[in-house]
Amino acid sequence: MLRVVEGIRIDARSLGGIATTIAFPEWSLCIDLGVTTQAALRCDTVAFTHAHADHVSGLNQYLGVRRLYGMRPPRLIASSAIAAPLQRLVDAMGELQGRPFESVVEGVEPGGDIEVGRGLYLRPFPVVHQAHSVGWSVVRRVVKLRPEHAGLAGGDIARRKSEGATDLFDEIDDPLIAVTGDTQAEGLDLSPWWVRRARVLMIETTFLDDERRDSNAAKVGRHMHLDDLPALLAGVESRAVVLYHVSQVYRPDEVEAAIRGRIPEAWQNRVHVVVPGDGERL
Ligand SMILES: [Zn+2]
Repeated sequence: MLRVVEGIRIDARSLGGIATTIAFPEWSLCIDLGVTTQAALRCDTVAFTHAHADHVSGLNQYLGVRRLYGMRPPRLIASSAIAAPLQRLVDAMGELQGRPFESVVEGVEPGGDIEVGRGLYLRPFPVVHQAHSVGWSVVRRVVKLRPEHAGLAGGDIARRKSEGATDLFDEIDDPLIAVTGDTQAEGLDLSPWWVRRARVLMIETTFLDDERRDSNAAKVGRHMHLDDLPALLAGVESRAVVLYHVSQVYRPDEVEAAIRGRIPEAWQNRVHVVVPGDGERL
């Protein structure tokens, strides 16, 4: 379902354990591909948080349908720890089709980033789920004239540039969105600036009720429980938070009510929820 949060278009479908696909149409970027959606199909780049089935199962259909429609081979991005097995998966799917898929899985090392559009970068951050799991931030890099040069005419700037001046501009990184992927709360560090200051923060919130908290369901699956949020949000400066990856043990009508009842007062008006449709539960 498409929603606009703080000016960012997010087309997300997510149900914990079943399928999660989060498309950002304006960036032609999709994070995870648990199922192929119309919005995901149109994205030229897919980044994976990890490789559990509910985050990668749409890949075969996505590659096949894009090729059927003559769309360009997409870019596939993952933590470098899983780039090789993901590539083997792509190659096996191509072999089964009788024609190899051309996509090459690009691995990103911790601390690195990768350009996915003009001035737009994906930057991973560590989370606590599978050993190789990462969250992704989307960061826009803007080049701005330094304030002390504000009065300069365009011609003067160009001349100084051609003379090799290096003090004209500042590069400013603006984190637009951060997506945790699957993670448990314990040990999760949201303090890197490209996460904490992201305009919108998307956090997996698999479990919502007392029963699953008491049974340690979140701990066992290395997932988040709604009750983990208040402590976690303490240092977060995002304008809005989007909760997703809710377990299918909850009926869609239970989800919103459970969340409204438990999130911190200060966040009540800034929290959005990806509520699964009835037909998505298995
Ligand atoms: Zn997972």
